[in-house]
Amino acid sequence: MSLLTLSTFPRLELIGAPTPLDYLPRLSDHLGRDIFIKRDDVTPLAMGGNKLRKLEFLAADALREGADVLLTAGAIQSNHVRQTAAVAAKLGLKSMALLENPIASAAENYLSNGNRLLLDLFGTEVIDVPALDDPAAQLQAQAERLEAQGFRPYIVPVGGSNALGALGYVSCAQEIAHQSEGIVDFAAVVVASGSAGTHAGLAVGLEQLLPQTELVGITVSRSVADQQPKVYALQQAVAQRLSLSARAPVTLWDEYYAPQYGAPNDQGQQAIRLLAELEGVLLDPVYSGKAMAGLIDGVARGRFREEGPILFMHTGGAPALFAYHPMD
Ligand SMILES: *Cc1c(COP(=O)(O)O)cnc(C)c1O
Repeated sequence: MSLLTLSTFPRLELIGAPTPLDYLPRLSDHLGRDIFIKRDDVTPLAMGGNKLRKLEFLAADALREGADVLLTAGAIQSNHVRQTAAVAAKLGLKSMALLENPIASAAENYLSNGNRLLLDLFGTEVIDVPALDDPAAQLQAQAERLEAQGFRPYIVPVGGSNALGALGYVSCAQEIAHQSEGIVDFAAVVVASGSAGTHAGLAVGLEQLLPQTELVGITVSRSVADQQPKVYALQQAVAQRLSLSARAPVTLWDEYYAPQYGAPNDQGQQAIRLLAELEGVLLDPVYSGKAMAGLIDGVARGRFREEGPILFMHTGGAPALFAYHPMD
């Protein structure tokens, strides 16, 4: 099988070299199981993160359409909005974002530090909205207002998660397959599952390239019942774009995101401290800390399908540490 069609999609180079795939010796010792990490938190632009892989495809599409504005939406502390704004700056495009406050926080750091501070540096035009109830419609309405003013906006969906953006994580699966070939056979890959493009792209790529490896999505905002159809639909859409079929089951664990999206919990905060103390690696309170809490608990409770090394997909998010300070 091949993922050759992937190379036929227009793509902007934002990342360059493969991100590191490293062994975590002290965490492995601590957990009694070999743990590796894929460092998508250190993609090169503007403090890194997983959205840049999606933006390689989405921004290329925007340029192809002759857009002059990248318009997107997310939480005030969205890593996605920060990375989209940085790409817009790099390309000389205007950036605009609809932002909501999903945890109704009045904390100064949440409202103006972390990712939100960076949006001001990128010159992003921010529109605060009471809630992103129907982000697709809200983005469309804003795009129409911009068009009426003579702009040519390109809508980057929430999280960059449509079939085109998710191709970035098919590409990441290729990278993982190359980096691990002949060195390590992963029993499982663990990833935070939010707007689902990362999960869906990996699902399609890993099914083709590392079919023995189980992919476990740790939900950060929804129950399994609500997240499963989102991942499944996107997995099918990605596969269709590549003329493939996707049959891999979608595995999701939803015990780690409470109380809600964007609100830290004890297990996640402990995982952040553990990785910092044992490995000098920075996780975040909204995504990667909760995903790591799932990995740790999964090892402790024997939830993974097989023995063998586990790969943690580090999707980034550390700029939000400053927004959630003090930590507990
Ligand atoms: C957006 C994000 C995720 C989730 O990725 P999705 O593709 O939206 O599911 C995970 N971690 C971090 C740090 C993110 O910013």
